[in-house]
Amino acid sequence: MSYFTELGLAEPILRALGTKGYSDPTPIQRQSIPALLEGRDILGIAQTGTGKTAAFSLPSLHRLAQNPQPRKNASCRMLVLSPTRELAAQIADNMRGYAKYLDISVQCVFGGVPIGKQSRALVGGTDVLVATPGRLLDLIDQRALTLRNVEIFVLDEADQMMDLGFIVPLKRVANLLPKDRQSLFFSATMPQSIADLGKQFINNPVRVEVAPQSTTAERVEQYIVHINQSEKQALLTISLKKGLASGEIDRALVFTRTKHGADRVVRHLHAAGVTAAAIHGNKSQGQRTAALGAFRKGDCPVLVATDIAARGIDVTGVSHVFNFELPNVPEQYVHRIGRTARAGADGVSVSFCAPDEKPYLRDIERLTKVKLTPTPLPESFLAEAAKLPAPSRKPAEQAQDARREERDARGRGGPQARGRQGQDRSRNNNQSRGGQGRDGQSRDQHARNDRQAPRERGPVFNPLGNEGRGSVDNRQPRPDGDRRPARTDGDRRPQRAEGDRRPPRPEGEGGQRNFRRRGGGGGAHRGRVNAG
Ligand code: AMP
Repeated sequence: MSYFTELGLAEPILRALGTKGYSDPTPIQRQSIPALLEGRDILGIAQTGTGKTAAFSLPSLHRLAQNPQPRKNASCRMLVLSPTRELAAQIADNMRGYAKYLDISVQCVFGGVPIGKQSRALVGGTDVLVATPGRLLDLIDQRALTLRNVEIFVLDEADQMMDLGFIVPLKRVANLLPKDRQSLFFSATMPQSIADLGKQFINNPVRVEVAPQSTTAERVEQYIVHINQSEKQALLTISLKKGLASGEIDRALVFTRTKHGADRVVRHLHAAGVTAAAIHGNKSQGQRTAALGAFRKGDCPVLVATDIAARGIDVTGVSHVFNFELPNVPEQYVHRIGRTARAGADGVSVSFCAPDEKPYLRDIERLTKVKLTPTPLPESFLAEAAKLPAPSRKPAEQAQDARREERDARGRGGPQARGRQGQDRSRNNNQSRGGQGRDGQSRDQHARNDRQAPRERGPVFNPLGNEGRGSVDNRQPRPDGDRRPARTDGDRRPQRAEGDRRPPRPEGEGGQRNFRRRGGGGGAHRGRVNAG
């Protein structure tokens, strides 16, 4: 008899769990399920990968099944809100699995695909609706849906909802929900602003927390490589080629800060013969689904993603996470490395830190209380980098888009401005951004900003590790022959502190090194933390 049985979950749910092979609940499930079965509200602090979806799905399905109701037109009994399309689809899939032996229907709606089919599917009503906020409100505005009959409301990944500027849509949803309902509010982090948002949804909640706030994922070995921005691509390509060839890397997720940065990385990888796909907000829903599907199946071993597109995605067997750029908000680092080491597996994260990203590294280490293990560049890095082929040039209009995105990123800055990719409605763009960004500015101001923006450095490959801006030799070609500007993130990263110099290149030290997983004869474990 499993603990799930002891909790009193309905037999068809236990059967579905048996089919999936789950016998023991995860800590978040152990803590939440009894309170949720009693009908209590919950405030859950948990990252994805902890079994959060089942924690809220199992008791909710149980309660819906115990109290069967005829479906009402354009209605749902349970509403789950998710920040991204991929996560919404994943939650709906999981819930369909748990509800397999129940007479409960699960529908999923999100932006980026035609609305007509979704609204037709809601005509007769559904028991469970998983939705992204923008598309949900569109359907409500079209009178294809009412929230009048919601009995259980789940808000997942609340902190990301805030980051995406969904605060106003969420408040609107809150006003449309019936007062008498059960509410479940989950977030990976719980700063005061999120706690305040939670108060609008939950009432006298049971608080559950599976990992202390901002601890990093269990069993992730965390490495840091100090490297020039312009050398990062070569290091990534070399690391992936070697790791995939040796079997060290099964599946790697690479995080870039911008959408065009992601595309650029993919082009370089393709040129070097590494199969990779990008997933971000500029891709069509079909492309996003195909990229994720190929990554899941193992057909495409490298997925290059922006934060928003990858948040919450559950892909088993991600052995490595590469941070091509360090996130400027340290919590994002925790989310990123949480993509590996899921479901009991070990994982490795490798972060590339350019000199002007050092303040971000310090923030990450302060937040996680973990010192990332420094790793030198491979001994033959320069020679190998010089041999890498150049990618094909991208179409002119894409280049224009990239410049626009980089300029916009410069004009934003700050946590609220991060990762707007994946937002499924542009009307949210200016919400809760404190007037930042270019939108409120005059044309003249835009022009002034552009003139004042730091000049993009020419392509640089600097074997001496000499970072002084004035000392850069712009005429020197990059090893891959790519003459496009090296700086891609274009955001307002902090100025390098005085004396903040890159450590000297450890010439000849350690020999060629790949990022090895534990058990594979890999190096230090200093980067390991225990989420508790
Ligand atoms: P989640 O945090 O909901 O994204 O879940 C992370 C992963 O753990 C998913 O692949 C789930 O299917 C899996 N999972 C959830 N609950 C259990 C459990 N009790 N035992 C084993 N795996 C689980």
